[in-house]
Formats: sequence, C-alpha cells, structure tokens
Amino acid sequence: MHLKIITHDKIVFDEDVNEIYTKGVGGEFGILKGHVPVMSALDVGVTRAVQDNKVAMFTTMGGIFQFKDDNALILTDIAESGSDIDVTRAKSAKERAEARLADKHAEVDAKRAEAALARAKARLKVALNSSD
Ligand code: ATP
Repeated sequence: MHLKIITHDKIVFDEDVNEIYTKGVGGEFGILKGHVPVMSALDVGVTRAVQDNKVAMFTTMGGIFQFKDDNALILTDIAESGSDIDVTRAKSAKERAEARLADKHAEVDAKRAEAALARAKARLKVALNSSD
C-alpha cells in the first residue's frame, strides 16, 4: 500500500509502506493493507510508517487522513521528520507550556498551553525516536 503526506508547501512523504499508525481525534489507530476505507480528522501527534527495513516517523498536526484502495493520504498543516526538528527548541516549548499549566495564578489560556505541549511532545517523540 502507499502513503502520501502533503502539507501546504510540499509532499513530505510519498512511498510504499506496510503499516501505518497515526493519531486521529478519536485516538490512535493503525492501518494494514486491505483495510476498509477510512476518513478521519487528525489530532496533533505522530504518524509512523513501517516499511520493509525501516520505520519513518513524522509529526502530523491536525488535518485529514483518508484511506481507500490501499492508498493513504494525509493532508496536514505541519508534518516534520526528525531532521526538521530542533530538539532544544521543542524542549523549551515543552517546559514553557508545562510552566504555564502549573502556574495557578497567571492568566493562562489552558487550551493554548495544552496544544503547545502536545506539539512539543510530538516533536520530541519524533526527534528522539522513542515510543512513549
Ligand atoms: P515554538 O513555541 O517553539 O514556536 P510552536 O509549537 O508554537 O513552537 P508551531 O506553531 O507548531 O510552533 O510551528 C510554527 C513553525 O515553527 C512551523 O513551521 C514549525 O514546523 C516550526 N517549528 C516549531 N517548533 C519547531 C522545532 N522544535 N523544530 C523545528 N521547527 C519547529
């Protein structure tokens, strides 16, 4: 089966894959060859594409996942691979968001801080290639 990941600017990934794991708004899900058609809104998270000898990982930040006839398409605002990600920046963003969420006195937009935290965590997961 095939996976294509497209942002506003470019085609980030366009290759044959064996398995796809991504994060929809309803939670994480996986797709294997022959799966029934799927259309899902994506959450901020990580998309993993398992190929013969490697696993390709990308952040995928919102957008749409479509699967039909063994062709998967992700249209998303942001899709980054490990080499695109500045780990120091992502760590700072994570710390900033955590500090905002921990500060009970400040006027904090919690939803905004949680979204920033989710983006930073997804970036660190891809950059550090960990599974948690
Ligand atoms: P920050 O607070 O560090 O700007 P953010 O979560 O607010 O992080 P986004 O709004 O998600 O940043 O992204 C804005 C732009 O910056 C996008 O083009 C994104 O790819 C890029 N970007 C954000 N964080 C990183 C990072 N750690 N490494 C590389 N590019 C990043």
